[in-house]
Parts: sequence; C-alpha cells; structure tokens
Amino acid sequence: MINENTRDHRQMRARGGRFGASLVAGTLVALALACGGAWAQSTPESASLTRADTDEQRIGDLVVANHILANEQVLDGFGHISVRSVRNPQHFYMSRALAPALVTVDDIMEFDENSEPVNPQGRSMYGERYIHGEILRARPDVNAVVHSHSPEVVPFSVTKTPLRALAHLAGFLGAAPVPVFEIRDVLGPDNDMLVRDKRTGAALAKVLGARAVVLMRGHGMAVVAPSVRMVVLRAIYTQLNAKIEAGALKLGAPTFMNAAESSRTDPPERPWEIWAADAERAVRASAR
Ligand SMILES: [Zn+2]
Repeated sequence: MINENTRDHRQMRARGGRFGASLVAGTLVALALACGGAWAQSTPESASLTRADTDEQRIGDLVVANHILANEQVLDGFGHISVRSVRNPQHFYMSRALAPALVTVDDIMEFDENSEPVNPQGRSMYGERYIHGEILRARPDVNAVVHSHSPEVVPFSVTKTPLRALAHLAGFLGAAPVPVFEIRDVLGPDNDMLVRDKRTGAALAKVLGARAVVLMRGHGMAVVAPSVRMVVLRAIYTQLNAKIEAGALKLGAPTFMNAAESSRTDPPERPWEIWAADAERAVRASAR
C-alpha cells in the first residue's frame, strides 16, 4: 500500500501537483505511522491488539481520521477531532484551524489542560477547542473527541423528538434519549451558539455525563470514545442512526433498542480500513 502511494506521489510531483504535494506527503507519513511495525504484518483486527499506543501512533490515526470524517461527510469545512496525549494525558492533539480534508501531520498542534497551545508558532486555532479540553478533563476514560455540525443530527437537537439507538451498529447511543446541551442555560439568550471558553465547555461535558454522544441545540454534536478509530466509528454511525430514525419516523413509531440490545460494542478496525482507503483515494484525486 505504501509503495503504491509513494509511486502515485512521485507521479503527481512529476506533474507539478498543486497543494496536494504536501497534503499527500503528510498523509503518507500518517499512513506509514498507522501501518508501522506489527500492524503492517497482521490482519487489521488482530493487529489492534498488538499496536503500540504512542503519541506518534495516535497522531497518525488523527490525520487519517480527519480525512475519513470529511470523506464520509460527518465534517465539512468546519468541525474537528482531537486525541489525548499518551506522554502527557492532560494534553491533547488537534489540527490548527483548517478544513479537515486538508490536514497533514505538520498541522497537528499540542494543547495543554486549559486548551491553550503549547507551541503556537503563529498558527490559527479552532475557537471551539474548549469542547475537547473540557470533555477530556471530565472523562478520563475518553481519549478522542469529535465535534461535528452533521445536518442529519441537528433536527434532533431542536425538536422534542429524541435521538435514540435504532440501528444495531449504533448501540453506543444507549437506550435512553441522547442528551441535548442548551447553550442558553450557560450564556443566556445573548450568545453566539459557540463553545468559546472553558466554562461553556465544562457545562457541555456535564450534560454529556457518562454518555458517548451529546447533541448541541441548533449546532451539532460532540462524540467521545477511548480511541481515534472508535470515535470515528461512533461519529459516522451517530449520523447514520439519525438518518435512519428520521426515515423510520415518517413510516410510524419505531421500535428502539433496549438496554441489552444497545450494550454490544463493535470493533472499528474493519470499517476503518475501507474508510481510510476511500479517504486517501479522494485525497489523491483532489491533488491531480
Ligand atoms: Zn461547532
């Protein structure tokens, strides 16, 4: 896979490929990191048990995850994903302010326990990074966070119809309605709908509680998981569950999953491989 990508990269550079040169180079580094060591020698699901968990590994997955979530239309030009640092668990990594489809390893920045940059180097940052910092502070079991403005999900944040686990791969949503964060409860009616500080981020984390997903009224959602790959699966299937639920509601009263049915966990390794391959193909196509 790496050899093929490298050949494509060389061909593209020979043609004087535009911004894609640095983009694909960053992606290749990420893929090399993601596929390194035992990972490259094993089947995806068995390899998940043997991959070393390092900051480099997490950053490699983070870059690929940005491309996957853009390609799967969970993130558009906005939205972001973060991962906790192994070396300093109070810190986390996230891209500089950039459309997720364009993120490379060089764009990843380290943020401290107050969601402030360790080494900003004049780079612009996502204004809503406090979503990530405050959830990671409140939830030691969480290592990765996605914030998305998914249009499939937003209707469930602005109506009395709750988002609930309906599709069997979305059991992580739980049998009870997904909680909804009302920003007016924190900032009052005179607010700009954005989570721009620690206080608002902490209030969002409180509404999330021990759940995997919290909706944000009229805005989107925050999704959490123990790993980058798992949070990508959850973000994609939250959006899919919302789509299925909206369709089912048009036909009648859906039968939602109960507590036992929603307790299953699906490994993210198998879909990750195809999502990553599709995303990197799209990256290479955009560079041509
Ligand atoms: Zn947002």
